[in-house]
Amino acid sequence: AAKQAGRDRAVRCDDALRSAHRERTEIADGLRRALHDGSLYLHYQPVVDTATGEMAGVEALMRWDRDGQAVPPATFIPMAEATGMIDALGRHALLTACRQALDWHLRSGLHLAVNVSVHQLRSPDFVESVLSALAESGLPAPALVLEITESALIDTAESAIAQLRTLRAHGIRIAIDDFGTGYSSLAYLHTLPVDILKIDRSFIMRHTDSPRAEGTAVTRAIVDLAGSLRLATVAEGVETGAQAELLRRLGCSLAQGYHFSRPVPPERIAELLERRAALAA
Ligand code: C2E
Ligand code: MG
Ligand code: MG
Ligand code: MG
Repeated sequence: AAKQAGRDRAVRCDDALRSAHRERTEIADGLRRALHDGSLYLHYQPVVDTATGEMAGVEALMRWDRDGQAVPPATFIPMAEATGMIDALGRHALLTACRQALDWHLRSGLHLAVNVSVHQLRSPDFVESVLSALAESGLPAPALVLEITESALIDTAESAIAQLRTLRAHGIRIAIDDFGTGYSSLAYLHTLPVDILKIDRSFIMRHTDSPRAEGTAVTRAIVDLAGSLRLATVAEGVETGAQAELLRRLGCSLAQGYHFSRPVPPERIAELLERRAALAA
């Protein structure tokens, strides 16, 4: 009986592997088609000045409607990385976002933040693809921020970091995304080509009315650290007015989150700029 159970388990494992593999292939095919059929597109989340409520920039966030079903980036980005589709996706996102943001930048000085996967950094023509997106769109380099997650950056080869260094020399800014969750050493941080720390949502969520709350302490420490390294800070995931107010007092001048706006289609950004709308300060 024990032998039979073992055999059954092996068969089930095999089935699970096969179906995981099939799912991966299907998603890769789906993404390849999505690049051309318009089901892959970008939403933009306002990045807001905590003192005035004015929009200072936007972050481009990819969306995929797969056969009418929204697939979250947390699902399809890892799939795109695993199947090698991320380079094509990333290139597409970058060029589309730069084209879209040019008008917003020229009219209102907005910056554009685009997420970059560490897999893209490993491709030797990454620098070239970023510079050509800028050239093709006309967006000036200082208007572009590339976001890389802290956890990805930690075990990245020096050759990949060197690409960021080159882009930074062209005037493009680099942000560390989800900062505070990746255990990067502070000694290491100051050797990285970085301009902005994005304080992870988990610390903002833990803000309460008490100034001694754990999230507040971490946020304060990150803002102070950024100050002494001459880096800017952006808070992610701000959901309440109290959090926004606290961030302003801590000296975190930029923030994004549902309190100000969810990620929205590009038409909506244009509309907000048109009305010069202040987003709940
Ligand atoms: P991220 O870059 O840290 O983006 C912030 C995520 O938090 C977004 O999720 C955004 O919709 C969500 N968010 C914003 N404000 C709030 C809030 O107040 N409360 C809560 N609960 N969530 C908030 P989204 O759009 O699902 O993206 C998830 C992650 O997928 C991104 O995290 C980023 O790492 C990745 N991603 C998205 N688009 C791209 C892309 O074009 N390329 C790459 N490589 N990664 C992308
Ligand atoms: Mg980001
Ligand atoms: Mg983030
Ligand atoms: Mg995140």
